[in-house]
Amino acid sequence: MPDQLPAQHLPGLPGLPVHDLLALDRKHVWHPYGPMPGRQEPLVVDSASGVRLRLADGAELVDGMSSWWSAIHGYNHPVLNDAVRGQLEKMSHVMFGGLTHEPAVRLSKRLVDMSPDGLEHVFLCDSGSVSVEVAIKMCLQYWRSLGRPEKKRLFTWRGGYHGDTWQPMSVCDPEGGMHELWSGALPRQVFADPPPAVFDEAYAELLRERIGRYADELAAVIVEPVVQGAGGMRFHSPEYLRVLREACDAHDVLLVFDEIATGFGRTGALFAADHAAVSPDVMCVGKALTGGYMSLAATLCTSRVADGISRGEVPVLAHGPTFMGNPLACAVADASLGLLLAQDWQTEVKRIETGLRDGLAEVAELPGVADVRVLGAIGVVQLDHPVDMEAATRAAVREGVWVRPFRDLIYTMPPYVTGDGDLARICRAVRSAAVRG
Ligand SMILES: *Cc1c(COP(=O)(O)O)cnc(C)c1O
Repeated sequence: MPDQLPAQHLPGLPGLPVHDLLALDRKHVWHPYGPMPGRQEPLVVDSASGVRLRLADGAELVDGMSSWWSAIHGYNHPVLNDAVRGQLEKMSHVMFGGLTHEPAVRLSKRLVDMSPDGLEHVFLCDSGSVSVEVAIKMCLQYWRSLGRPEKKRLFTWRGGYHGDTWQPMSVCDPEGGMHELWSGALPRQVFADPPPAVFDEAYAELLRERIGRYADELAAVIVEPVVQGAGGMRFHSPEYLRVLREACDAHDVLLVFDEIATGFGRTGALFAADHAAVSPDVMCVGKALTGGYMSLAATLCTSRVADGISRGEVPVLAHGPTFMGNPLACAVADASLGLLLAQDWQTEVKRIETGLRDGLAEVAELPGVADVRVLGAIGVVQLDHPVDMEAATRAAVREGVWVRPFRDLIYTMPPYVTGDGDLARICRAVRSAAVRG
């Protein structure tokens, strides 16, 4: 330890005055979907524990976002801290080529055990977008290995979001989504209209027809099951998942579920696929996987997919991130999933669902509000106009709550440990944001 250094130079100790920090941030640091230099001043977070973010000025905000779906157990959780600390003392990282370790094996076994039937093999990777890249690579390579390289396109419905890297961008909503800019440069995939909220036989028929018509070119269908997240926070009937499964089986097309946002209990089922008792051929998980502690995602697949790839001319899956299977991330993910399964998470998610339904019911009556919808621990207020993001955020912060509205949406997916009082506060803040935004 460099204990001869003066205190202000020790790493990890505060020492940068907030106004300097913000000036440097603005000058040098990109933020998600941000311009350079930044136009909106971000809040400076000093620490977080339970469901609260503590700001540099001492104020505390209840986190209504779970840091984008991930911090399901809240922050600074003793069990998760112990898992990281325990692993830290052994090793933070080793390469995964030619080496393996207990955290990766335990986590993979746990994922296989808890995920829908038939998913037997786990590819660990760094982030959700990469797990979608891997899923797509698996599907394209499967058909290549079977001598059908022309099956290389993807089918999806509009309104989806699958990440920010290249292939995932190609299956995000092509209009109104965040990737419009790239239309023309991205691979051209096959789209259907967004799925209606309630089951509609005519729409189901359209899905069947489209999959049948393009079957010779399609490697896979990829969708977010039941909840479309960053593409518009829309919900749809789980019945469509059965329609997709049947159509994929009938026409020799693989089925990929992107459960990066929906996985690990958020919708009231462990995986959204469970609402329909449907198993995909490939499934992506991420976000809540580590309880929000660090970046980790995984792509699971069936033995059919793995065998198909392994029988091909190039019998390996040619993908291997430097930080694949990072032991710290795997250890905290295994602890986080253990923590989830050891508790009655269904009751907690149900409690939050009821709290959001009650707390947001009257928001639907406000002028400017087009729709209010709740599913599991997800609450969405849709306005009839684009939200004034700055004004809406400021209104929520004044109520002591952190939310991050976008487009015409003010939404919340709180940590499962959010108490009833804090939940009511989140609902009040969403209401204020809807009024001001
Ligand atoms: C967040 C998200 C991704 C991308 O994950 P990153 O970790 O941000 O790369 C992909 N798909 C869905 C459904 C997501 O919600």
